[in-house]
Amino acid sequence: MLITKDKYSFAMDKRNEPVTQVDLPCKLTFETLDCFSEQINCTEDKIETLDFNRVNPASGPVYLNNIKAGDLIAVNIRDIRVKSPGKMIAAPGAGILANLITTSETLLVPIENGVASFKNLELPLTPMIGVIGVAPQGEPIACGVPGSHGGNMDTTLIKPGSTLYLPVQVDGALFALGDLHAVMGDGEIMVSGVEVSGEVDVTISKVYDIELENPLVKTDQVLAIIASAETLDQAIETSTIQMAQFLTKYTDLTLNEAGMLMSACGNAQISQIVDPLKTARFAMPLDVLRKLGINIAF
Ligand code: CA
Ligand code: ZN
Repeated sequence: MLITKDKYSFAMDKRNEPVTQVDLPCKLTFETLDCFSEQINCTEDKIETLDFNRVNPASGPVYLNNIKAGDLIAVNIRDIRVKSPGKMIAAPGAGILANLITTSETLLVPIENGVASFKNLELPLTPMIGVIGVAPQGEPIACGVPGSHGGNMDTTLIKPGSTLYLPVQVDGALFALGDLHAVMGDGEIMVSGVEVSGEVDVTISKVYDIELENPLVKTDQVLAIIASAETLDQAIETSTIQMAQFLTKYTDLTLNEAGMLMSACGNAQISQIVDPLKTARFAMPLDVLRKLGINIAF
């Protein structure tokens, strides 16, 4: 089933009208606008001319039949197809270089044959999803903000081949996604990756044997718990503590052993440090978890 890019919202909100409802497991294709709602189309279109009420649209939401608050869903990302050109911006006050930047600039990044042309540099594509999540139980959360519901996590691991596990907060989940990046580095330090419109193929299913407070992503290499907070320190701390708890719950490790194993071969990593809340993850190598005999199906 196709979710077209003319059906979107700017907040994850339990009151959003679903664009469709589906039974799980379900294969869906989402068409998405870029994070600027396609308001930037040439280098003269600058961040100052943007209508900021129209940033970070997420296509959907989709109501998942028979999914209740408290359930867990797995979103397998089968493919991401990105549209040329990608768009990047530099702006005074934006991102980590905020105070050094004196002039606003827009860069269009042509995409062809698996590479993005950053001026005359060819960067291999690393397509990923910036905004993906479910409606929160409480007040609406703007799509530009990350949290335990998902949202603007800007996590490079949310890419083709990965499976994202999301705790559902309201009946039907109200799943939505958008903000594709053709190429992005950890941190997203300028506030934009190579922002693109595109299409995403996902398979959504219900998960029965795992409990999570925050999103978890599985790639072919790692299992990572993703947390967002006011500061990067807090986000790292939460993701690290929750990974330790995850390991003690689903393996025979004691807390001390889990912590030492994480210290030996796990990685505290930055997802993004430029959104209203910061996002970090703690990643454990999958082969180590498999050797541990983790007692849930991954
Ligand atoms: Ca984003
Ligand atoms: Zn983006």
